[in-house]
Amino acid sequence: MVNSEYTVNPEIPSIDNYIGGEWKPPLSGKRNAGCNPARSSEIVSLSPDSECDDLDVAVASAEAARYAWRKLTGAQRGALLFKAADLLESRLEEIGRAMTCEMGKTLGEAKGETARGAAILRYYAGEGMRPVGDVIPATDAEALMFTTRAPLGVVGVISPWNFPVAIPVWKMAPALVFGNTVVWKPAAETAITASLIMACFHEAGFPAGVMNMVIGEGAVIGQGIAEHPGIHAVTFTGSDTVGKRVGQIALARGAKYQLEMGGKNPIIIAADADLDLAVDATISGGLRSTGQKCTATSRVIVVSDVYESFRSKLLEKVERLKVGDGLNAETWLGPCASRKQYETVLDYIRKGKEEGAELLVGGEQPDDPELADGYFITPAVFDQVMPKMAIAREEIFGPVLALIEVRDLDEAIELANDTEYGLSASLYTSNLGYALKFIQETDAGLVRVNAETAGVELQAPFGGMKGSSSHSREQGQAAIEFYTAVKTVFMKP
Ligand code: NAD
Repeated sequence: MVNSEYTVNPEIPSIDNYIGGEWKPPLSGKRNAGCNPARSSEIVSLSPDSECDDLDVAVASAEAARYAWRKLTGAQRGALLFKAADLLESRLEEIGRAMTCEMGKTLGEAKGETARGAAILRYYAGEGMRPVGDVIPATDAEALMFTTRAPLGVVGVISPWNFPVAIPVWKMAPALVFGNTVVWKPAAETAITASLIMACFHEAGFPAGVMNMVIGEGAVIGQGIAEHPGIHAVTFTGSDTVGKRVGQIALARGAKYQLEMGGKNPIIIAADADLDLAVDATISGGLRSTGQKCTATSRVIVVSDVYESFRSKLLEKVERLKVGDGLNAETWLGPCASRKQYETVLDYIRKGKEEGAELLVGGEQPDDPELADGYFITPAVFDQVMPKMAIAREEIFGPVLALIEVRDLDEAIELANDTEYGLSASLYTSNLGYALKFIQETDAGLVRVNAETAGVELQAPFGGMKGSSSHSREQGQAAIEFYTAVKTVFMKP
């Protein structure tokens, strides 16, 4: 049974859940059709519309597998991650293409993200051999006191569609290497990419039940993970509305949880900035991946002295960006990932105009008739944006830049902090004093000087302040804090 208004080509991949080491259709038999955002009438996948029964089976198999898995050494678990990394890398082209067809990002970015996935797997494979505790002097001369780390049990992973390889991999790899088993709910929009990742793990030889994937509605399977008494910890990346709900449910039943959510990331252009570099960083940080990065630049806060010259340099380059199908080599900017995302972005563009901001460029469907069936929006730049406007306060998650003029750096930092979010912030300047002031005074988990807001390094802690996060950190060595519990050992002969 297919929940779709479209006629479906029998060649379309029909994706299954992965439970207990086997591919399993959803118990209900129901599936949802997923379309290519570059041509919305083209169906690219049929993904499981799973129900809580499917989730129960996955949790039971993760539970059954966890005791044997935790008994392996970190090196043994890491060896499997190394194999998964090689397999992911060997399927770079296939996974990249699937991602582009499902969520629209350009093929170059999709392949780059897949390569990042392999690098993350290798990084955490190595973590299996690194120290996990400290020796602490005991007050008893005969005792040895030290800390070690214990796995949490079954970890539920809920991930979004915007980085369908990197995000789930940066959650699952540390969960696994530290001895947990996993039940993963990917975003249904990127079901093919998710099943290709699972295929790599399967082929790498992970024992049955160690990794499980269940695809379905967020309100059913995502919420089911948050509520499930058999899941000991929940890691979530997505919108703040859903994330806060997931956190409340997990907290109420005493499960450990971690939330990474939205952003409204500012870039500040100081009077002494290299304007050409600042323009490139604004475009790359704000518009790559069609602005659908949690770290995307959204507010462009420019000091008056250079406002006009920055704006004209920015417009000149934004107007030349090529919008199109992400599979075309010359495309710089693909479509919005879904109809929902497309409508949300158009809605913000309408709101921006209604509230009195001036749309300088973009914000509309491209002229090209070949793009008429896709969720394309030309990159938009708003001028005369006031801090109270919706486009200056709410996460848009699309190709929209809001220019805000300020007197000086003090006002710029005050505005940068005037948001409920605190994920990433950037400053362009050649003044070391400005840079230090910005680093000290900006409330964001990622603070970047002369670099775009959207860069993430897998070996460094990643996460937001304020409403962007549950105040935990992912990636790098920070991951051990979430995926393990500290055990303090006091031992006498
Ligand atoms: P979303 O919150 O709609 O969905 C995220 C995941 O949660 C999906 O798997 C979805 O199916 C699931 N879900 C939906 N409803 C649920 C519910 N009631 N209970 C449990 N799970 C549910 O977000 P999205 O639209 O997929 O992703 C975009 C958002 O993700 C943006 O806000 C973006 O900023 C954020 N994001 C944050 C980071 C970060 O690391 N901070 C990274 C990428 C994306």
